[in-house]
Amino acid sequence: MELYYQPDIERMSRTQMRDLQSKRLVSQVNHVYTNVPYYKKLMDDKGVKPSDIASIDDLHKLPFLTKEDLRQAYPYGLLAKPLDDCVRIQSTSGTTGTRVVAFYTQNDIELWEESCARALTAAGGTKSDVVQVAYGYGLFTGGPGLNGGSHKIGSLTLPMSSGNTERQIQFMCDLGTTIICCTPSYAEYLAETIEEMGMRDKIQLKAGIFGAEAWSQEMRLRLEANLGIKAFDIYGLTEISGPGVSFECSEQTGMHINEDHFIPELIDPETGEVLPMGEKGELVFTCVSKEAFPLLRYRTRDICILNQDECSCGRTLTKMSKILGRSDDMLIIKGVNVFPSQIETVLIGYGLSANYQLIVDRVNHSDTLEIKVELTPEMFSDTVRGIEGKEREIHNKIANILGITSKVTLVAPKSITRSEGKAVRVIDNRKI
Ligand code: ADP
Ligand code: ZN
Repeated sequence: MELYYQPDIERMSRTQMRDLQSKRLVSQVNHVYTNVPYYKKLMDDKGVKPSDIASIDDLHKLPFLTKEDLRQAYPYGLLAKPLDDCVRIQSTSGTTGTRVVAFYTQNDIELWEESCARALTAAGGTKSDVVQVAYGYGLFTGGPGLNGGSHKIGSLTLPMSSGNTERQIQFMCDLGTTIICCTPSYAEYLAETIEEMGMRDKIQLKAGIFGAEAWSQEMRLRLEANLGIKAFDIYGLTEISGPGVSFECSEQTGMHINEDHFIPELIDPETGEVLPMGEKGELVFTCVSKEAFPLLRYRTRDICILNQDECSCGRTLTKMSKILGRSDDMLIIKGVNVFPSQIETVLIGYGLSANYQLIVDRVNHSDTLEIKVELTPEMFSDTVRGIEGKEREIHNKIANILGITSKVTLVAPKSITRSEGKAVRVIDNRKI
């Protein structure tokens, strides 16, 4: 098992990386074909034999796996090791439906923690840091993943979990937290509360590692200003391991993928065709070193862009852009495809808070969209008069960009319920 801090892996040449990936892929395909009857059947149905896979150039021959397969195979159908060899179960948050479970051997845990350790290191973390993990602990992978990564680099770890915000802030000040890890929506809530408690001068944060949900560049700038930090994105999903599948470095222009473990591909979500670097598509991962739950060609439904441009940090690992949407997040409103992130960008562009909710309904057989968004405290105190004009302006902007009409309602700060984990942005009453 490699250690987390191996600059040679994160900085190896593309040729070396391809060789490593190819070698691991060949052995992984054999492992899965032999031990996972569910996937063997998918390969047999497609007429693909393990011997057809000689390098990563053959990756495209393998069948895809989808969340639907995970649900059908629930709970043990994709397990590639005896349960006796497994030491942990984690589960997805269930953001978009039934939860799925994933299994880990001891080596799988090591590999996952190593991925998170790389993320912390890239954000400047060292053994001298105090890392406050305010992601939820438990079945959700956020807390345990960053906790393990922080231990691996030898930082002092504060396993706070989410919630109990005033105590979080008190500890943050008393114990001198330097790196905070949580969802970006919870980071906003922390920032607001720090301000209210008058503790802004007492915090010693230098970095934040925010992930598990989409957040915009505008939100990054605001969190950086409000908390006095550099804010880094981290991406992952339970099915592939958890947070740390990819992470941002000092350049903050996308997330390096730990592709010695997780080979990325980008596909056209409609046709399944593999797309070249630079195009926008659905991210697909193949786990080449995991033992218990090694998904091959798993369709994440997350939309992004990949690139292998040179990075100033020196890492050669492929980079993915911020997640531009989840294909299962996409709302279809009056036949138009709408991603909540598109609306968020407009709202933040108007200086509004990132606390918003999209309420979709169906009235007289036609879809309606209400956008409720909180004013920032400063705006609230001096713009109550101009609210209607502002609402109309935002309405027009959204109509221009997305081609749909909406009802924009600006509400008082703190009137939308806060989430301690992933934010609840969409209330789709059409499904009820
Ligand atoms: P669920 O699918 O139930 O939310 P997880 O808790 O495993 O399950 O979350 C994984 C998903 O969270 C990813 O597929 C992705 O859509 C989203 N996600 C994770 N990290 C990020 C990030 N940094 N930016 C945007 N979305 C993210
Ligand atoms: Zn970099």
